[in-house]
Amino acid sequence: MKDARQVYELGTERREAVAVKQYPYCSILSCADSRVPPEHLFHAGIGDLFTVRVAGNVAEPSAVGSLEYAAEHLGSQLIVVMGHERCGAVSAAATATSSLGPNLDTLLSYIKPHIRATDSLDTSIYANIRAQAHALLSSDILAHLVHEGKLQIVAARYDLDSGQVEFLPEAAVADATHAIHSTVPTDATHSNTAHKKAEPTTKKLTPAKPKKAATDPHAKPAHDDHGHH
Ligand SMILES: [Zn+2]
Repeated sequence: MKDARQVYELGTERREAVAVKQYPYCSILSCADSRVPPEHLFHAGIGDLFTVRVAGNVAEPSAVGSLEYAAEHLGSQLIVVMGHERCGAVSAAATATSSLGPNLDTLLSYIKPHIRATDSLDTSIYANIRAQAHALLSSDILAHLVHEGKLQIVAARYDLDSGQVEFLPEAAVADATHAIHSTVPTDATHSNTAHKKAEPTTKKLTPAKPKKAATDPHAKPAHDDHGHH
């Protein structure tokens, strides 16, 4: 069932094949958390994933610029914004009552507008994932690629306990009109209030199974119909 290429292409032959030119089929904006390495989770090989990692998977300028480069110049046609269970960055954004230093404060400033003090950590994590995915549409480059059908943006949450990646269909960024013509408010992307009309998307990347099964990047998941509560 699996595309062996995804599992085994880590050696010399693969390295040499992509040494001069890369064609990553997917970009990922993931948390930097040590437990959430995208290449391992998706059993991807060298040259497969254009991975951008920053705590809290925040769509800050350098991350967005990196994704713009992958989409426009490397031909990556899918962006997965992937958060995860028990994210320390989201937890810090929700609970910090004093400065953590200028750099961490800046990082957390990208998360805080999307979460509410009364929410559980997991609810905040879902809200942050959705918000960061939608924030990518504030990039004219990404928004136009979506509009032209050359790019799809999806959101996902990795469960530390089960090892499963859950795609969030309601956070699919597939509405080109929305992408081009509406602003992306920084304080209105909470799961309870925004983006209810986003349509489910075709998945092009499925996670590795918890133990050892590999992933087929072209398969559709059997079930993806949940993601918030
Ligand atoms: Zn995290």
